[in-house]
Amino acid sequence: KIKKSGGNHYSFFDVKEKALIQQRLELESEITQAIEKDQFAVWYQPQVNTQTHEVYGVECLIRWNHPEQGLIPPDLFIPIAEANGSIKELGYFVLKTACQQLRQWRIKNIFTGVMAINVSLRQFERNDLLAQVKKTLVDEMLPAESIELEVTESLFSEDNNYHTPILCALRELGVKVAIDDFGTGYSSLQRLKSLPIDNVKIDKCFVDNIEHCPEDVAIVMATILLSKTFKVDVIAEGIETQEQADKLSDLGCFNQQGYLYSRPLKAHDFEVWLADFSLKNNEIKTLKAINH
Ligand code: C2E
Ligand code: MG
Ligand code: MG
Ligand code: MG
Repeated sequence: KIKKSGGNHYSFFDVKEKALIQQRLELESEITQAIEKDQFAVWYQPQVNTQTHEVYGVECLIRWNHPEQGLIPPDLFIPIAEANGSIKELGYFVLKTACQQLRQWRIKNIFTGVMAINVSLRQFERNDLLAQVKKTLVDEMLPAESIELEVTESLFSEDNNYHTPILCALRELGVKVAIDDFGTGYSSLQRLKSLPIDNVKIDKCFVDNIEHCPEDVAIVMATILLSKTFKVDVIAEGIETQEQADKLSDLGCFNQQGYLYSRPLKAHDFEVWLADFSLKNNEIKTLKAINH
């Protein structure tokens, strides 16, 4: 939508908007080939429990290594992939890559926790997702409980509930389901009551000002209370400072993810980070034991 500000004069905004549309068109035309050319990579971000000091989970996040534009973040190309349908292929690539990685980590006893995988609404079309998940779990010999699918609240809006049977079938296999970006979408509390989920991810926007904003504290407390009542887990994402981490732990939200612990990392860098993290925590545990 290009707005004309009278005659043929385009405002600066139009120029910017045109550039964005141009980039969008370029990426859209390249995305299918980019999968074949192996330009996508999966990075990993740890999920930490502040009570046990364990890395109990990892979220996998896709990156596009574009030959000219460098590393492109998913917020830029996922909507494009969703619009032109290539998200199905891309989603399957992420699922396979993450599960292959998890299998390697399990074999080497590096990481045996849960792999969280983002899935888009469109991946639920034609029942592809269920078949792909089943096949991947068998191929990689993984227990269903070792993967968690992250979906957004939009999946649960009134006119979209055709996903519910698929989610239920996945959960019957043992696959976990998490609601991502919780609190930013439109799912009513009434709907929440009947959702087939195992985990709620409190969005970063409620974490950012948690030390200074009583409203955000109230939202986080309410979410924790709801999750306890519905017997689902809760995790907060986007934690950047120790103060935010402490505040969340005080409120009873021990599962945490954010730059404070680590940014998303390439597989090998994650292994290095994890070894270092475990070493430090063993030191903490030893010190605690000595002092007792
Ligand atoms: P998300 O699933 O909510 O993932 C969290 C995003 O927040 C990630 O951005 C992560 O790098 C970032 N993040 C984590 N901790 C912090 C922090 O402490 N501070 C800040 N500022 N950011 C933090 P990323 O990797 O750019 O991904 C953005 C979004 O793209 C994701 O949001 C998700 O909705 C989507 N996405 C990523 N990978 C995939 C994928 O494989 N499939 C699909 N369908 N969507 C994906
Ligand atoms: Mg996510
Ligand atoms: Mg999120
Ligand atoms: Mg998001």
